[in-house]
Formats: sequence, C-alpha cells, structure tokens
Amino acid sequence: MAEEHNTASEAQQEPWKEIDFEDLPDRLQVALEELGIVELNIERIVLSKCDCCEDDYYTIGLVDGAPRPESCGRCGDPDCLEFSQWGDRSHPEYTEDSYILDLGEGPAGYICSSCNEELTSRYGRPDGTISLHVDGEKFEFWYLKSFLFDPEEKYNDLPEDIQDAIKEIVLDTDYVRHDAWRGANVAPNEADGFQNVMDGWHSSLESSRVSEFINGLNSETLDAPVIKVFTTGSNVCAVGVNVYVPGSKVDEFQMKYAEAGLPRAFGLEA
Ligand SMILES: [Zn+2]
Ligand SMILES: [Zn+2]
Repeated sequence: MAEEHNTASEAQQEPWKEIDFEDLPDRLQVALEELGIVELNIERIVLSKCDCCEDDYYTIGLVDGAPRPESCGRCGDPDCLEFSQWGDRSHPEYTEDSYILDLGEGPAGYICSSCNEELTSRYGRPDGTISLHVDGEKFEFWYLKSFLFDPEEKYNDLPEDIQDAIKEIVLDTDYVRHDAWRGANVAPNEADGFQNVMDGWHSSLESSRVSEFINGLNSETLDAPVIKVFTTGSNVCAVGVNVYVPGSKVDEFQMKYAEAGLPRAFGLEA
C-alpha cells in the first residue's frame, strides 16, 4: 500500500507498522481462516489507523500464487485485503485521491470504510451537512471530524475566504456531551469573517415557518454568500441549525428575519 515513511515527524506518528500473524486479534485470525487465508500464504501484515475514528485496521499481503478470497466489494481488487480488528472486510480510502478531503493539519491520510460509510452514504450520520449558496450557485458538503465529503469535487473551486470559513466550521465543530448518553455536535459562533446568526435546534421531522425561511435563504437574500450548517446529535429527531453570513450582513439578516414575522428570539421552536 503506502510508500515508506521516513521523516522523523512521520515516524513519530507511526502511521503504520508491520506485524506478525500472532499479533493479529483472535477474531481476525479466525475470520482470515474462514476466508481460506492461512499464515503460510501471507507475505506481510501492516497495522494502520483510520485518521478519522483512530480504529486499527490491518492490510494483508499474500504471496504470489496463493488463493485469493472474493474481490473487494468496493474497488474490485482481489488484493485489496483490509480488515478491521473485528475481522470485517474493509476498504480504506486514501483521502487525497478522492472526493473526501482532510481539512485537518498534517499529511492526508486514510479513512476506514465505516467512517467512509458514515460520511458518504445516505443512511450515514456525519457530524454535519453544509449547504452553501454563492453567486446564485448551490454547493453541498458533508463532514465527519476533519473529513469533508465533496462528491462533486467543488470545494477547491470556491473563493478562498469561503474555503477558509468552511474549514473553520468543520474543524471547530465540537461534540458537546450533555450526560453519559446524550450529546450534540455544536458548530462555532463565527468562522473567518462569517457570523453564525441562527444557532438553535429544529425538529428534523416537521417543517415550520422558521424552517421554510431557512430553506429559502440563498445568496440573493442578502446579495452575499450564505452558509447553512445542519449538525447532528444523539437525538435523531432534532437537527442543529446554523446560518453563517458575512459580518457586514448581520443587521440586514436580522431585519429580513423580523420582516418575515418570525419569533424574535432565534430559538427555533416556532
Ligand atoms: Zn474510521
Ligand atoms: Zn478495496
């Protein structure tokens, strides 16, 4: 898989290391045996970490001519033999080559298939969804930790100040724990010159005058870019609503909001 990592800083992070068969978790050893992969046919085993959830995963390299199990369901390569510590077949995505960007610091890395699924499938629950209107055009992104799902590969075409604002929103969204079981992803109050003018929660099941107003917001509303961010939490029936407008447009936004006859406070219950 990856090329050698030689520099001191990379070595410190230990992005991956080679291990022996007996170092594999027992469940994975059993799973490999069930697939017909025996120790004798293994050339090398590499242990890596998902850069998103930090779970371990294992890459198995087989010797030439050894029987292969069925091809990877994701990439179709019979030699793509990645497994989670539970023995599930996996297929990590290398972020720099794909429609998933790592906005965090450091070199681009790998995202495991369960994080990938969470981020990119319509049944997944990422930390947040970003819906953006710039000059009459709509953009949509999803994010999980520092990873941004950019299916149309449009992020890099955005103006730099908007890229910076998105990056700050993604990196500054924190999971706030309410108790042992409950918590929510909370987006920041400001992001690189943009102000969060609407910070609250809305039912994800019902629409209201407030949600109609939010859905109708676009770059024509204020003749400026508008960034809407919907965050998730442990309560699947609620969605966090955040609307970012440029600092110079905050008063105008509040006027439009009042003109729409919506409740004065931005608590989004109405
Ligand atoms: Zn992961
Ligand atoms: Zn694969």
